[in-house]
Amino acid sequence: MNAAIATVTCAGCHESVSPSESFFSAYGEVCGTCHAKVEIAEMAMRARAEQENSGSFEGGLVNGGSIVGLLTMLAAVVWFVAGMAAGVVFFYPPILFMVGLFGFIKGLVSR
Ligand SMILES: [Zn+2]
Repeated sequence: MNAAIATVTCAGCHESVSPSESFFSAYGEVCGTCHAKVEIAEMAMRARAEQENSGSFEGGLVNGGSIVGLLTMLAAVVWFVAGMAAGVVFFYPPILFMVGLFGFIKGLVSR
């Protein structure tokens, strides 16, 4: 059945995925799940670096964690709605939204 459909082998989990469901990453072409993992790992690293930068500089005046979380949720919603408008349902934005929500709550709690 799928003989006519070319597939891409994910560089992360080695699953065969259709080219429309694959993403380019630092590790090569990966499936959506592995791409999300890579993105979350990179985002966590970036958030940690930002936290270290603002920690001593802005002190307790600006809660960087919750603001970053809020922006992440906003970006996820915009991305998801834009995808829906184009007739594509992305499954990564909801993950991104949860990450943003977690960061937002964590930022509020760790004030
Ligand atoms: Zn994969």
